[in-house]
Amino acid sequence: MGQLELTAGRYRSLRLGAIAGDLPELLAQAEANEVSYLTFADMLVEHERQTREAKRIDLYRRQAGFPSDKRLEGFDYRHQTTITKRQINALLDFAFLDNRENLVFIGPPGVGKTHLSIGIGQKAIEAGYRVLFRNALDLVEELELAEMKGELKKMLHKLAKIDALVIDELGYLPMSRQARYALFQLINRFYEHRSLIITTNKDFTSWGEFFHDDNVAVPIVDRIIHHSHLYLLGGESYRLKQKTLS
Ligand code: ADP
Ligand code: MG
Repeated sequence: MGQLELTAGRYRSLRLGAIAGDLPELLAQAEANEVSYLTFADMLVEHERQTREAKRIDLYRRQAGFPSDKRLEGFDYRHQTTITKRQINALLDFAFLDNRENLVFIGPPGVGKTHLSIGIGQKAIEAGYRVLFRNALDLVEELELAEMKGELKKMLHKLAKIDALVIDELGYLPMSRQARYALFQLINRFYEHRSLIITTNKDFTSWGEFFHDDNVAVPIVDRIIHHSHLYLLGGESYRLKQKTLS
């Protein structure tokens, strides 16, 4: 066995797989650039770190289950003028996650609520947080299924391991009493413990109607609004704008 394989094997045995795998390229690069020993030492460890970080982000992204690959970089604030880049950028230190605060994007269809929630979720993942994206109805279905199997507690326990749960399109369609109760359990669990990022087309005055007569409505809305950043989005639908352009 040559020296290169031997050295690569040593890195591998210490679980430094990125260095082990790319050792020939790293050596060639160092030689070509005539870097110092110290720089080379740093190159190796930095390569391992960056490779791991990229893998982590990739994994977290897949686990998040975003419905599409929207980025904040692709958000056009000239079209959406009811929220500013400054307001969104202010969230990207993720103090709201550390403080277990919620974000609520309220507005009619097509104004960028889902785009912003995915974009913020992506940034949170890059910063090291765990995010899960769910359409409200899918989430409630999952909760109900868990409830039926007697596994709601287990599911809530699992969900509470993530830092931010995006609930997209909350309040678009009516839910059964049982569904609302399951949702209440979740919101209770997250309250002051984890963050919710909610998109909805209702303003909070009509939420009471959505959750109508039952006694979980008020506490649900209360718990969501308490410690929340609310963003009221308006303007015309971006989808419509694109239609008229083409
Ligand atoms: P909502 O969730 O409010 O109904 P979406 O976020 O799904 O709206 O936006 C609808 C479509 O228009 C998406 O493809 C989204 O990426 C795009 N879009 C909306 N607003 C903007 C914007 N200001 N800049 C760029 N794309 C936008
Ligand atoms: Mg949406």
